[in-house]
Amino acid sequence: MSHTPFIGKRIELVSMDPHFHDISIGLYEQQHQGKPVYLVHTYSHKEGTEKRINFVVETMKTFGGLESADDGLLQFPCGEQHALAIKRVFLDSCKVAPQSNATAHPLRIHDKKSGCDVTAESLGNGEYRLQTEGDPGDGPRRIAAIARGLAKLGEMETYDDQIDKVTFACGQSHDALIGLLLIRAPNVRAVMREVEMMAARGVLAAPGAQQ
Ligand SMILES: [Zn+2]
Repeated sequence: MSHTPFIGKRIELVSMDPHFHDISIGLYEQQHQGKPVYLVHTYSHKEGTEKRINFVVETMKTFGGLESADDGLLQFPCGEQHALAIKRVFLDSCKVAPQSNATAHPLRIHDKKSGCDVTAESLGNGEYRLQTEGDPGDGPRRIAAIARGLAKLGEMETYDDQIDKVTFACGQSHDALIGLLLIRAPNVRAVMREVEMMAARGVLAAPGAQQ
């Protein structure tokens, strides 16, 4: 019988951490009182590993607006799963070099295609409205495309009659998360490809074989 403590179901994996000795870092999901909580874990015992994991955890709090749950686990303030978003928060947090100081992303991007700045405004109740600044030109069409990208990345709801609006089903604001997802929203196809590649790699790596 194994006496390994239950760490949960692995939902994402960085198989080689470029910032710390190529170790594997996994993101695990557990249920605490019926609510999903997340654990960042590695099987590596290299010196400095704990510090590295703590840095990833702190960066996830900043990038995703996550908060501490019991036992150093992470949760969204709303208590919901946000299954796709949590993976993005994890992957992006692992990309940050330990020397740098991670700050939350602004709710504004520069959209290369339209040449406009695009902002997301929180309307409360988990609703966000996208707007272009500067020359509108191609703006409205781009807004619709970026809103769809955002909705896909964040598993948000969209509206046929309000193409500039997206909503989190949990009904709560996630400003940091929107800032993070907004960066990739104009280029969703590439993002989904990356997610699939990571998933494929996760399947290939045996959980016990990562040192
Ligand atoms: Zn939520």
